[in-house]
Amino acid sequence: MPLNVKTRRTRTRIAVTVLSGLLPVLLGFTILYMQAERALKHNTEQTAEEAIRQFELMLDNNAQAARELLPLAGKSCIDVNLALREQVTRRPFVRSTNLLWDDTIYCSSLFGDYQEKVTAGDYSKGEILLMKGNLITPDSALLVYRLNAGKQGAMSTLDGYHLSNVLRMIGGKTLLLLQVGPDWLTADGTFHNDALPTLPVAQTKLTSSRYAFTVEAGFPEGETWRYMRSEYPPLFSLLIFFGVISGFIGHFLQKRSSSPSHELQRALEACEFIPYFQPVVHGDSKQWSGAEVLMRWNHPKEGLVRPDMFIPFAEHSGLIVPMTRSLMRQTAALLAPHPAPFDGPFHVGINVTASHCRDLELVADCREFLAAFAPGAISLVLELTERELIEPTAITLQLFEQLHELGVMIAIDDFGTGHSSLGYLRQFNVDFLKIDQSFVAMIGVDALSRHILDTIIELSAKLDLGIVAEGVETEEQSDYLTAHGVNFLQGYLFGRPMPAAEFINALSHH
Ligand code: C2E
Ligand code: CA
Ligand code: CA
Repeated sequence: MPLNVKTRRTRTRIAVTVLSGLLPVLLGFTILYMQAERALKHNTEQTAEEAIRQFELMLDNNAQAARELLPLAGKSCIDVNLALREQVTRRPFVRSTNLLWDDTIYCSSLFGDYQEKVTAGDYSKGEILLMKGNLITPDSALLVYRLNAGKQGAMSTLDGYHLSNVLRMIGGKTLLLLQVGPDWLTADGTFHNDALPTLPVAQTKLTSSRYAFTVEAGFPEGETWRYMRSEYPPLFSLLIFFGVISGFIGHFLQKRSSSPSHELQRALEACEFIPYFQPVVHGDSKQWSGAEVLMRWNHPKEGLVRPDMFIPFAEHSGLIVPMTRSLMRQTAALLAPHPAPFDGPFHVGINVTASHCRDLELVADCREFLAAFAPGAISLVLELTERELIEPTAITLQLFEQLHELGVMIAIDDFGTGHSSLGYLRQFNVDFLKIDQSFVAMIGVDALSRHILDTIIELSAKLDLGIVAEGVETEEQSDYLTAHGVNFLQGYLFGRPMPAAEFINALSHH
């Protein structure tokens, strides 16, 4: 049933609710993730900048020492040894100093006279070299600064301990390394000369503008999540709060959009309300005298839906008027090209609700309907249920007067189940009474119901009203009603409500 069942749609609704709740949470998470990545990148950039600054400050001492010693290169080692040692003593970070002639160390602050060939190409930009160690400290890295002018040369070394100390202190949780040419040093003081590692999160590489070295900073895998977990817990709670609110809003909006009236409006626009036709036969000859038009909802998912399932919603939402109008237009379009092969006008019964009788629009609808047929081909009967009586106001009286002028007839449907008075029947110029099927069903079963039936038949004869018996299912009922002079019969015995094509086909065979 299209308006109240919990089927696929319920599942879709739950899915949409969950999605509308998850969407802001996921979106928020993505934004926070990006924000965390940005914060980490900023962090590594700052760390690398600070490391560069510190290394440059250290190297400034070595460069200064080398500059002061360079003019002494070429002099005998005995004469300059004191000057070499003085630089080591005076300058922070300078561990040793050397003098060179023609790229050969000939005097060292450590050993005095000393001979060692230096390969200038080993030095990054001819300036600095990162070494794994030297004779004195083979396992402790050191950085050598080299200054050259012609055959003269001066060198000063910087202990790797200071370098790894800076990497450790500035780096903190950041992975930080110093690179000089193909060699690099990590915070634990280890020397490497293989390929540089890639730092998976927020990798930053900065090169000193003053000396030939580079600093690389980054974080290990999973650092973004770790950062989010430690920095954003209050924002996570806020996100979940927004998710719940958004889920509620999504749920509420869906409820609104899938309300019965919304669904009916959609179905009306999609022309899903179609007419079915049930024949009405003459009491004596059993020949077709007309048909009642019964609405069906050709629902795309639920199939054919009976009117009891949706007419109450349609009445409640006010959509019953445009729905009836659509039904009348479809009926006219379907039946007009097929004139009934009978004498006299073919009765077409249309069910009309009280709300359709509040203004004169119904007259225009009937006029439009009748205009589709050849004059006198059909007789339009409006069926008004007795359970829902129309107030006799100036407008309604005028309406019924105009309807009669048009030749439209009025039938009181479900007669016997409501409280229409004689005055009411006269006031609205009623033409037919349709006996409710509950009385017909009691023929041969219940004496009291049969008595009411007899009274209705008598009353209609006295008031000169046509009488239609609904719900005739058996020969016994049919015989009884015919014997009591009921003019018209309708029920499964003569034909069930059927789609237009079947009805038109059957019509030509009768
Ligand atoms: P109704 O106007 O009293 O229509 C007669 C109902 O009795 C129809 O049910 C019909 O299928 C059913 N019926 C006909 N012969 C037999 C029979 O021999 N035995 C039994 N048990 N039932 C029989 P349906 O088509 O389900 O319509 C139900 C009600 O929905 C209608 O009762 C009418 O009140 C309302 N309805 C149908 N179409 C429209 C419409 O276009 N507009 C309005 N406002 N109401 C409609
Ligand atoms: Ca009816
Ligand atoms: Ca009825």
